[in-house]
Amino acid sequence: MSYCVNCGVELAPSERRCPLCGVEVINPAAPFDDSAEMPFPERRETVRHRQVRIAAAKVLSLLLAIPFISVLIADLIEDGALSWSLIPASAIALLFMAVVFPCLFKKPAVWLFMLFATLETALFLFALSVILGGNWYFLFALPLTLLTGAAAIGCWLMISAKKPSVSLKMMIVLIILTVYVLLLQMLIELHLHRAIRFVWSIYVAVSCAVLAIAVLIVSRLIRKNEAVRKKLFF
Ligand SMILES: [Zn+2]
Repeated sequence: MSYCVNCGVELAPSERRCPLCGVEVINPAAPFDDSAEMPFPERRETVRHRQVRIAAAKVLSLLLAIPFISVLIADLIEDGALSWSLIPASAIALLFMAVVFPCLFKKPAVWLFMLFATLETALFLFALSVILGGNWYFLFALPLTLLTGAAAIGCWLMISAKKPSVSLKMMIVLIILTVYVLLLQMLIELHLHRAIRFVWSIYVAVSCAVLAIAVLIVSRLIRKNEAVRKKLFF
């Protein structure tokens, strides 16, 4: 039985390289054996992921196609022409682009699709405002869509980032959420009452701030503990 000199993973007799870190196996006492049985087939994961992605795309397409066709047919039967059904139909098309499209890519950059979804939503709402009329789009719907998209992308980029520690990530996400909630209420109040008021958003913001401080204190305590441990060698 050999172990990888680099990462310590247990190696099968047939392995020329460590399956985890790729370091060459050199063990004079137990040289690798080409004829030994491989512990796992190569490329198993990629094949499985691809099948799952394609199956998911098919199922989602089918699920979205049913309401898409139903509303168009219902509208045609009712009015003899397409009118109101264009709104739900374009909403479903939007969902299709945002949900099914990423399934077809091997490694989609999630933030890019979030950006697409945000812009698609903004476009859809613009079409809706043209059909329905009213001046709610530029003052309310567009800033709300862009704000929500920006907050979601910001949170995702922070969560998926490699570098900062978990506690720093949590703090930044909490700060993003706080700013989002405050701006959200500001937008709603401006739209409904033509005045800026913070009521429920203050509670959410204070809760987020308390949580952020708690995360900071806990991470400091953990770091201190580690430093003491290293000094005392236990
Ligand atoms: Zn290794």
